Amino acid sequence: MRESRFSLVSFFLVLSLVAASGPSLQAQTKVKPGFNIFSEEQDVEVGKQSAAEVERQLPVLKDSEIQSYVSRIGERLAGNAPGPKFPYQFKVVNVSDINAFALPGGFMYINRGLIEAARDEGELAGVMGHEMAHVALRHGTNQASKAYLGQAGLGILGGMMGSGATSEIMGAIGGFGLNSLFLKFSRSAEEQADVVGAQMMAKAGYDPVAMARMFETLREKSGRDPSRFEQFFSSHPAPADRAQRIENEAKLIGGYDARSPVGDFRRVQSRLERMPPAQTMEQLAKSQPSDPRQSGRQGGDQPNSGPVRVSVERPSSRLRTFEHKDRAFRVRYPDNWQAHESRSGDGVTLAPDGGIVTYRGEEAIVYGTIINTFDPAAAGSRSGSSRQLSLEDASERLVAQLLESNNYLRRERGSRRVTVDGAQGLSMSLSGRSPVTDQDERVVLVARRFSNDRLIYMLFISPERDYDSFQPAFNSMASSFRVED
Ligand SMILES: [Zn+2]
Repeated sequence: MRESRFSLVSFFLVLSLVAASGPSLQAQTKVKPGFNIFSEEQDVEVGKQSAAEVERQLPVLKDSEIQSYVSRIGERLAGNAPGPKFPYQFKVVNVSDINAFALPGGFMYINRGLIEAARDEGELAGVMGHEMAHVALRHGTNQASKAYLGQAGLGILGGMMGSGATSEIMGAIGGFGLNSLFLKFSRSAEEQADVVGAQMMAKAGYDPVAMARMFETLREKSGRDPSRFEQFFSSHPAPADRAQRIENEAKLIGGYDARSPVGDFRRVQSRLERMPPAQTMEQLAKSQPSDPRQSGRQGGDQPNSGPVRVSVERPSSRLRTFEHKDRAFRVRYPDNWQAHESRSGDGVTLAPDGGIVTYRGEEAIVYGTIINTFDPAAAGSRSGSSRQLSLEDASERLVAQLLESNNYLRRERGSRRVTVDGAQGLSMSLSGRSPVTDQDERVVLVARRFSNDRLIYMLFISPERDYDSFQPAFNSMASSFRVED
């Protein structure tokens, strides 16, 4: 995350189309990207992780001729894309539904069904240009930014779900992969993608009106077989007068230098025709439990299968020191664990290899320790003053938030007074059956006051059956914990 964070003013700015002013009436429409809490590098990071998830769920067509044809169209467009220089890449998904989507940072997927439905290279380029415009304008992470800020309270528990700023944010808003925040856009975003996509096409030597034709083709065909088109139109809601707007933009652009196609579109289509028919998304979803790609993996994400099996080494009794980057705290921890420091927040997650897993697109910690700070004022009601909150009350708010974001946990009765680095602290225990492992889990919270009326806390996490063997490590961490406030 950028250190500059975001301003409230930009938060409420609605994406808008700004018509170019100036002497020329022929100027193209200028589009201003919306606010974003992600850096451009994070767009790529989020896209890359999501793409890895997507490719575990969807079959990528392995055909070098078709793959290279689609990539050549994409590269021609990408050479003319506005905005950041994203590492655009293009893959064909072997499903018959007519759809295409692009993840932040430029990871684009074009369904085989869409290539089969298009009438020429220009129409295919039209959809790709439209998708690329969503990426260049960073619509996916713009929506993710809005969603994240919409749940402001969750951000405070940053360290809870992830091992880095990006993971924390993504964990709070539905995770990596086929996150609808990246796939489904507002009508105003659609307008922007049409306009910018048309401009990109013209620069790349395609007729921008081909994009309008493609949308028409899709609409025509959807009348005959609505189910195959459903996804496309629900994720790209047609703005009013779509075709008209694209045609107007083409006029504003005022012509283009037509280039010859990058390849033989007909040849690609007939090549697809000769292949065994692709499954629909629905068939694919049904067949997935027996999908060989799902078996034999361990500790990874298993979208449609059962709980994750996790096994980690026992914590080493040799300790090393983690020192927070702003020297806010330091702690000794087993030397066979890793520190996953969050870049934006105050937190760190210390965990053995394999102790953090991805489950249903979110990172979850099965074994390890989270250290973070908590601002009870931000978590409490707006009316009540947060000053003078007792340690007990502040901790209650923290626990309430933990239970809310981990609703399988139950609180065990009572709290224990403990000493944390010479100051008074509280310890509480939570337990419940983890949906990630389908095993009983124990979470022990230790909290004490920190500067600015905040709390600093440690969460010790382990499956119940292993808690005893992790206890000595947890004890060493609690007793070596030093806070600078
Ligand atoms: Zn769209």
